[in-house]
Amino acid sequence: MINENLKAVQEKIAKAAEKAGRNLEEITLIAVSKTKPIPVVKSVYDLGVRDFGENKVQELDDKSERLPGDIRWHMIGHLQRNKVKYIVDKVALIHSVESLRLAETIDKEAKKKGVVVPILIEVNVAGEESKFGLKPEETLPFVKSLQSFTNIEVKGLMTIAPYVSDPEENRPVFATLRKLLVDIKEENLDNVNVSILSMGMSNDYQIAIEEGATMVRVGTEIFGERNYA
Ligand SMILES: *Cc1c(COP(=O)(O)O)cnc(C)c1O
Repeated sequence: MINENLKAVQEKIAKAAEKAGRNLEEITLIAVSKTKPIPVVKSVYDLGVRDFGENKVQELDDKSERLPGDIRWHMIGHLQRNKVKYIVDKVALIHSVESLRLAETIDKEAKKKGVVVPILIEVNVAGEESKFGLKPEETLPFVKSLQSFTNIEVKGLMTIAPYVSDPEENRPVFATLRKLLVDIKEENLDNVNVSILSMGMSNDYQIAIEEGATMVRVGTEIFGERNYA
C-alpha cells in the first residue's frame, strides 16, 4: 500500500518535472512522517527515501534517535526558541525560520554544538492570519539581517500555501516565492547562497514543481490520512 503510494508520488513528480522541462535531480521529495509510528517510517526508509519531515521537536528528536543515522531530518513546523537546543545538531534543514529572535537562538545553539545549520526562511505568501511566516516584502531585508550570523546558513525559502480545492489556485503563490528567491539571488549578498524552494504538499506539489519547487513536502499521499486522536 505505502509502496504503491510512494511510487505514484514519485511518478507524478517525474511527470510534473518533465512537463516543466526540469531536471528530476533538482527536486527532493520529503516524506512528511509526522504522527506516523517508527515501523511505518522505517518501511518508507526501506523503499529508499532518506528525507523525512517532522513538525514537532520531541517527535523529531525521538525518531532521529531510533531510526537509521543516514536520514536527513527536516524541521518543517513552527519552532519555539526554547526547544531549538534539542534538535539543532539533528536536523539537515530547518524550513520554518520567521523571526530574528528565532534565527539568533538557532545561531547561538549551533555555535554551542559546533555546527552550522542550514535554514530556510518561511514566507506567508498568501497572508493567511492562521499561518506563520514573513510578508513577501519583509523577506529580503530579513535575509540581509542574517548575514552576520556565523552558524546559520540561509539556503532558500519555504511557504505553506492555502488549502484550496483546485491546486491551480496556488500557482501564483508558488510563482511569488520563486520570484522572491530570484530577487535575493540578484542582490549577490555576501554569505548568502540561496537555491532551495520548499513548496508544495499532497494537494498541490505538482503545480509547485511546475513553478520551480526544489523540495516538496508530501505526507498524506504517501502515508495516508493522519490520525491526531
Ligand atoms: C503536514 C505538513 C505537510 C504535509 O502535508 P500533506 O498534506 O499531508 O502532504 C507539509 N508541510 C508542512 C509544513 C506540514 O506541516
